[in-house]
Amino acid sequence: MFTPRHCPYRHCSQHDRADADFCSRHGSYFAACRSHPVPRFRCKSCGRTFSRQTFRADYRDHRPDLNQKLLRLIASGVGIRQSSRTLGLSLRCTELKFRKLARHLRRLNLNLQPQLRTGCTLQFDEFETFEARRNTRPLSVPVLIERHSRFVVWAESAQIRPHGKMTENRIRAIEEDDRKFGPRKDLSARAVRRTLSRGAEIVQPGAVVRLQTDEKLSYPHQARRAFRRHRLLHERTNSKLARMTWNPLFPINHTEAMLRDLLGRVRRQSWLVSKKRRYLDLGLQVWIAYRNLVRRRFNSDEESPAQLVGSVDRRLSWGELVSWRQDWGLRSIHPRSRRCRSIAAWREGAAA
Ligand SMILES: [Zn+2]
Repeated sequence: MFTPRHCPYRHCSQHDRADADFCSRHGSYFAACRSHPVPRFRCKSCGRTFSRQTFRADYRDHRPDLNQKLLRLIASGVGIRQSSRTLGLSLRCTELKFRKLARHLRRLNLNLQPQLRTGCTLQFDEFETFEARRNTRPLSVPVLIERHSRFVVWAESAQIRPHGKMTENRIRAIEEDDRKFGPRKDLSARAVRRTLSRGAEIVQPGAVVRLQTDEKLSYPHQARRAFRRHRLLHERTNSKLARMTWNPLFPINHTEAMLRDLLGRVRRQSWLVSKKRRYLDLGLQVWIAYRNLVRRRFNSDEESPAQLVGSVDRRLSWGELVSWRQDWGLRSIHPRSRRCRSIAAWREGAAA
């Protein structure tokens, strides 16, 4: 039975903090895609009406039945065009659905961030890909994980300057791009800083953090800056070391290999390419949600990475991933709560 815990309208006084009886039942309606009637409610403070559907992630969606299917395809390395053919949707409709789902998952990932224990080990690395044009528009993607659980804390992309072997054709192409878009800036330092600070946010201040990276010269400074409120133990490994299981950075290398496999956009030698960087970022959020919440840590495991770090009590289903809206921060409904409790209340209950 659904019970709303607050008014969904932001300007209402019952939005941030609601009384127990802030709304009353206001009938119900039938939706073509639901077998049960959808209950409606009326807020006693602002007088506006809303329904159970107002709190769902597929609120106002056309073809909500295809959301899970699209998510499964995207998280399995299939591109937007092929997904649209498979689902029988137009390309534009598939793009819009992907965008909405990915933004929802970005909020879910942030809302379900765990509190990491003292003494946890984080691993950080960057890999390269590109947007639209391989030889002129490279991108760097910093990735941060918790080593033991393989929990992906954060990943995002940043533009970098083209580097490496320069042929005449390539120099001409870079000049052409520079004329069109202005000189390409290197923004990777900012992305590294933001990714590391996402890690610092989820470790208690004052706790001991072990950070493992390769020997890139800028990392020690960046790490000290991000983890200044912690006792930081920074361990560095030469990136020329063979990438075998005994390599201390194997967990992050393995995570990146899995990412390259499951996100078609970052595969090497592939037709699937992000034309714009911001859509790669959305694809990364879909992958993070799938990796942390749905997939097992290893095939032989029962638990997901998010379960191992304590942010959920079991692996989520695809349906739970796209269940409740997540745009109200910790006051959004927890995807695992049967009684529609908020994420904050669910955490308190789990801790008690
Ligand atoms: Zn209201």
